[in-house]
Amino acid sequence: MSNKRTALVTGGQGGIGQAIARAFYDAGHQVLVTYLPGTEAASEAWLAAQTGAGYSFKAYEADVADYGSCERLAQKIAADGLQVDILVNNAGITRDATLKKLTKENWDAVLRTNLDSVFNVTKQFFEGMADRGWGRIINISSVNGSKGQFGQSNYASAKSGIYGFTKSLAQELARKGVTVNAVSPGYIGTEMVQAIAPDVLEKIVAQVPVGRLGKPEEIAALVTFIASDVAGFMTGSNVAMNGGQHMY
Ligand code: NDP
Repeated sequence: MSNKRTALVTGGQGGIGQAIARAFYDAGHQVLVTYLPGTEAASEAWLAAQTGAGYSFKAYEADVADYGSCERLAQKIAADGLQVDILVNNAGITRDATLKKLTKENWDAVLRTNLDSVFNVTKQFFEGMADRGWGRIINISSVNGSKGQFGQSNYASAKSGIYGFTKSLAQELARKGVTVNAVSPGYIGTEMVQAIAPDVLEKIVAQVPVGRLGKPEEIAALVTFIASDVAGFMTGSNVAMNGGQHMY
């Protein structure tokens, strides 16, 4: 479906990120993932496990919430003689609390990691894509960016902000062969969702028409399609995959 490209997946060692990294590898792409500063040993163990499972990725240190760290990431990738053709802004965190209990620290952490990061990383790579006349930027938002969620004013704000960024940059890059799209997963069975209290999660799943959590591989298949050559007419979109929980 696609030529061989180099793909960078931020947070590629997490649940959805790992599934995307594997799907890209299966599609024949070279795959770069990031790991957080100070977690190099864990990252090496993760890479070894991937190799054991038949996958080969390159890992780079980066804190996507930190602009300087993203500049250094781009420098390291360039120094390795690589160019990023496909960027998936996937890294993200939750720090849930009602506004009454939400601290300034947890507002800032979520906005910086989930929204500033999209600027910080995209800024490093979009011009290269435009200069080469081909690129894919895929921003992982959330169903809660569209519908909001009790206790997630920080997370929903960041994920909603991704839509404005996506639609604006899509217009700026449309004539350059670079597409920019958002993917909004519903509840997917990863560590992020396992952090939700079981009784709350049970109520959430009860609201999902298909009656289950999504699988990381399902999101990865969608992302792989958007990253492919045949998806060149798709830009500025926000693609939902949420088991019918929120239809728009
Ligand atoms: P995980 O917690 O499994 O993975 C998140 C990844 O982001 C981890 O690899 C984590 O690294 C990394 N990360 C966190 N902070 C930073 C940072 N500052 N710099 C670099 N990397 C960072 O989450 P998911 O796989 O579930 O989520 C992936 C994306 O999908 C997120 O953007 C999330 O908001 C979104 N999403 C998830 C849904 C779900 O139901 N799971 C639903 C809708 C959207 P480390 O492990 O080292 O901390």
